[in-house]
Amino acid sequence: MDKLVSLCKRKGFIFQSSGIYGGINGCWDFGPLGVELKRNLKDDWWYHFVQVRDDMVGLDASIIMHPQVWVASGHVEAFHDMLVDCKECKKRFREDHLEGDRCPDCGGELTEPRAFNSMLRTRLGVSDDTAVDTYLRPETCQSIFVDFKEIYSSSRVKIPFGIAQIGKSFRNEVNPRNFIFRSREFEQMEIEFFCREEDEEFWFERWQEDIWKWYVNLGIRESRLRWYEHPKESLAHYSKRTVDVEYEFPFGWGELQGLANRGTYDLTQHSRHSGKDLSFFDQEKNERFIPTVIEPSAGVDRTALAVLCDAYDEDEVNGEKRVVMRFHPKLAPIKAGVFPLVKKEGLAEIAEELERKLRRKFPTVYDHSGAIGRRYRRMDEIGTPFGICVDFETRENGTVTIRERDSMEQVRVPMEEVAEYIGKRISFDQD
Ligand code: ATP
Repeated sequence: MDKLVSLCKRKGFIFQSSGIYGGINGCWDFGPLGVELKRNLKDDWWYHFVQVRDDMVGLDASIIMHPQVWVASGHVEAFHDMLVDCKECKKRFREDHLEGDRCPDCGGELTEPRAFNSMLRTRLGVSDDTAVDTYLRPETCQSIFVDFKEIYSSSRVKIPFGIAQIGKSFRNEVNPRNFIFRSREFEQMEIEFFCREEDEEFWFERWQEDIWKWYVNLGIRESRLRWYEHPKESLAHYSKRTVDVEYEFPFGWGELQGLANRGTYDLTQHSRHSGKDLSFFDQEKNERFIPTVIEPSAGVDRTALAVLCDAYDEDEVNGEKRVVMRFHPKLAPIKAGVFPLVKKEGLAEIAEELERKLRRKFPTVYDHSGAIGRRYRRMDEIGTPFGICVDFETRENGTVTIRERDSMEQVRVPMEEVAEYIGKRISFDQD
């Protein structure tokens, strides 16, 4: 984990927020490479779960919502963590994260647990007498429930169908930790899938299959993925059944995504609190009902962390240690490095022109400094899947070599076919 965190900082994937002021706990910034990786993840998710499906639509709702939303959803009442403090070293812990009944750091005695609401409070409005207290959303899904009627009456969706959203969520986590695994500001990719109650098991299983397939197709090795079924007695207040996809991080197994059957809880609650009828009218059957909700809820940051952990590798090339990030090409921040074999004799100009053309299709870099082996190595370290070399033969017949990051094999390809050759390998449409 230490190696990965330092690579992320050194190469500009992820660093602490507000670093020059000493950082701020639980907040992280995605640098030039991190932002590309994260965008690729989100785009791939949207592609598979929204774009290619005919039973899904999208939403991008506001982060700040009416305060009543959080009363209706149960968050004001029940979104609590139980906190304990160490009487000796004064450190604070979440009770459910502790293994024994003493402080895990100094062995000191702990206080009795106290409830602490994990929503981030904020104030909306400019003057003291009119400003209202509300919260930054702790999950993206509530806006999907609140907007349910707007969406189904403005689009041509019919049950069963789902609404997807990617966006920021905020939780005042007691102990943000494990790099970006548990932070206070993070992004979620959530789907609320609305079906009839009698079909809930069918859809739950379908979503289980689809979610699993998505992780595998990201290139994450299956041996590091598993399901965890929540025992009935520890289910969240809204859930009839929850299973999590977990990944084996260097610090242990951790949740990437939850899949919950939320039943009719949320739509019923919002109907009751808002006084608006959020039932669905099935015209064919001439029947009105509150749909049951199956919810796959994934974290962007946790998935990014799993992808980073899974990609990290060290091997040896010609007696030299190599760090290589084995990202699936579709997720790699930079798709290709373009290099002239030598700077002289017109090779640099050809390579620069090729790189300018390629960057109109996907992210690339041009590099002419140092030995060619070094340049390949720099690309390996940030997970660039293809290295393109312009050499003397290029001048004669217009072909270049493409070196593959993982196999290190090289193929010769005419320059005008490079974009297509790489395009196929980085496409989301491969599985
Ligand atoms: P945990 O038990 O780890 O606190 P949770 O069960 O409360 O997580 P959910 O409410 O199910 O999490 O949220 C859905 C997804 O959102 C999680 O699977 C995770 O990927 C992501 N997520 C939740 N909390 C955080 C956080 N503090 N930092 C980063 N991602 C998070």
